[in-house]
Amino acid sequence: MTTPVIIWDVDGTLVDTAEHHFSAWKRFAEEIGKPFTRADFAATFGMRNPEILRRLYRPDADDALCAKWGEQKENHYRKAVRDEGTQLLPGVVRLLKEFADRGWPQAVGSSAPRGNLDLLLNVTNTQRYFDAVVTGDDVTRGKPDPEVFLIGAAKLGANPNRCVVFEDAVAGVEAAKAGSMKCVAVTFVGHHPSDILRAAGADVVVASLEELTVAHVASLVE
Ligand SMILES: [Mg+2]
Repeated sequence: MTTPVIIWDVDGTLVDTAEHHFSAWKRFAEEIGKPFTRADFAATFGMRNPEILRRLYRPDADDALCAKWGEQKENHYRKAVRDEGTQLLPGVVRLLKEFADRGWPQAVGSSAPRGNLDLLLNVTNTQRYFDAVVTGDDVTRGKPDPEVFLIGAAKLGANPNRCVVFEDAVAGVEAAKAGSMKCVAVTFVGHHPSDILRAAGADVVVASLEELTVAHVASLVE
């Protein structure tokens, strides 16, 4: 029997911190005297900070300014998460425990900066489940490029065809498939509809991780 290796996306899969991101962008925008609307949020959701900043505020912003502004926004985000906390999404704790009980290695593969991930894993008390944490700081190409997941697999010494990626976003599903991995997509937070995730190549699509059994996950790599 092949032991599966699990790689978790974080935002939208383990936790939902979209509202913390929205309030952080709004506070940052106020500091530079600009608006940040729900429509701006919807139009830029999932993009990297420099792309968002250039698109919304200054097309000619150089890398140094984008780094400074991005840090300003992420500081607001981390403060919001620290002050308000965040909850693991339904089914996540059970799966983390059941995978761990079976000795399946688990990693995080997220585009978020390391500081955000350290905080999120700390606030949700989940660090002990992960043998590797790969962040946006560790890659040169974001999802849908498979780099973040391939680094995770390499850190766990796993062949990609043993890996099952948990994702909520189209770019993440595409990244998993580009890396020759299996992918479970969850629509719980509702940013991406199930037919689109399936079309992107998801092997399984569930409305909530509560629906998913360990046996089903194991069957994906057999
Ligand atoms: Mg996500």
